Amino acid sequence: MAKSNMEQDILKVLYTEEEIKARVQEMGDELYEKFADKNPLFVGVLNGCFIFMADLVRATQVKSELEFIGLSSYHNGVKSSGVVQITRDLQRDITDRHLIVVEDILDSGNTLAFLNNYLLSKGAASITIVTLLDKPSRREKAITADLAGFVVPDEFVVGYGLDYAQQYRNVPYIGVLKPEVYSK
Ligand code: 5GP
Ligand code: MG
Repeated sequence: MAKSNMEQDILKVLYTEEEIKARVQEMGDELYEKFADKNPLFVGVLNGCFIFMADLVRATQVKSELEFIGLSSYHNGVKSSGVVQITRDLQRDITDRHLIVVEDILDSGNTLAFLNNYLLSKGAASITIVTLLDKPSRREKAITADLAGFVVPDEFVVGYGLDYAQQYRNVPYIGVLKPEVYSK
């Protein structure tokens, strides 16, 4: 185990590195079956997707391309503001492309509801939503993932790309942050 000065802020581990790896491979296998003949374009939602995206595309050995979009609905807090902003736009044409949207967590649904409409308005041929984590208890928009890694309870989680105030993204597992860390 690597040394860590973040472990002390984690209340409990929800999914270990090994569990994540096994699940991501299953997801990759599923995507392979669906997209082997479609030259899909993976669209990662920054910043949270960066670790999951890196692992998912290697677990999905399909001829494909990558793209990123930066979206933000959080202002360094633990609750979504509901207003989604594009912080980094797509850098290429997605007309008639089969998109695989890669998100870290689907919570209120505000982010993906916005993104789904945005991608459709840009002429996507199809949109498949893949999320590492799904927190269905807090959904405000009628949006569901086509493929979800794990369903999580209504707790604020960090690690494996997910942050609190831009920190903890490099924690290698998914854990629940101690409430005293964000109520400080
Ligand atoms: P939504 O728009 O569905 O409410 O939220 C999606 C975004 O909120 C995610 O991409 C993620 O950045 C952030 N988010 C929602 N729940 C959590 C959580 O439990 N932990 C962290 N770190 N981010 C979350
Ligand atoms: Mg995110």
